[in-house]
Amino acid sequence: MLRSKQKPFEEILRYLEGENRVFILGCDGCAQASGTGGPVQVAEMKSKLEAEGKTVTGTDVVPFLCEKALIKSRLARKAKAVMSADSILVLTCGVGIQAVAASVNKLCHPGCDTQNLGGSRGEWPGSERCAECAECVLELTGGICPLTACTKHLLSGQCGGASKGKCELSPDRDCGWELIYHRLKALGRLDKLSYLAPPKSWAKMAPDPAIMSSPEYALEMPAVKEASGE
Ligand code: SF4
Ligand code: SF4
Repeated sequence: MLRSKQKPFEEILRYLEGENRVFILGCDGCAQASGTGGPVQVAEMKSKLEAEGKTVTGTDVVPFLCEKALIKSRLARKAKAVMSADSILVLTCGVGIQAVAASVNKLCHPGCDTQNLGGSRGEWPGSERCAECAECVLELTGGICPLTACTKHLLSGQCGGASKGKCELSPDRDCGWELIYHRLKALGRLDKLSYLAPPKSWAKMAPDPAIMSSPEYALEMPAVKEASGE
């Protein structure tokens, strides 16, 4: 399970500045369980954005937004509504937002921050990874996480050591910041590279005691114990 928290509405509105048409996508898995991106929250977000004068071209709630094949097949049914939007607002965890951004050639805005569960993570089939940093910066990076795609976890651009698109520290890996550059270029949004990510509060990556005592966390514990051999 990846637990998420909706970003403040004012922040979401800032992401949508200059855009009139948006498609809202939610997840009926972890985001629904977190109360951040299930059918109820997607309907609420639609009403709030329409009250702000935005046109919501459509909505969908996909069973698991971490599964790219599922995302593509579901969105294919709503292709007209998706493609007529300026962007997609994704209400789910960092893995789901990245999976959507990798599946659709459309700017994706993160509607949630993924909270730290103290190393207790669910399993998902794709390559996208989220470090549960609680301050999602996917808005600035074309939907590729710099904390997990870059070996040094750099937040504000390439280190300069990449060679032929590969990472200086792990030559078998693509340089995360080159991936981000190419994604933003394909979206026509290289302007986002001129915004520096704010300094990260690493303290927010400490698991919240309230989460650790939640029913969702208790459900994760058997899997965590099994993985650690306890
Ligand atoms: S920036 Fe990366 S680590 Fe932080 S919430 Fe987003 S996807 Fe997860
Ligand atoms: S080469 Fe790229 S992925 Fe590797 S540390 Fe530098 S910026 Fe990060």
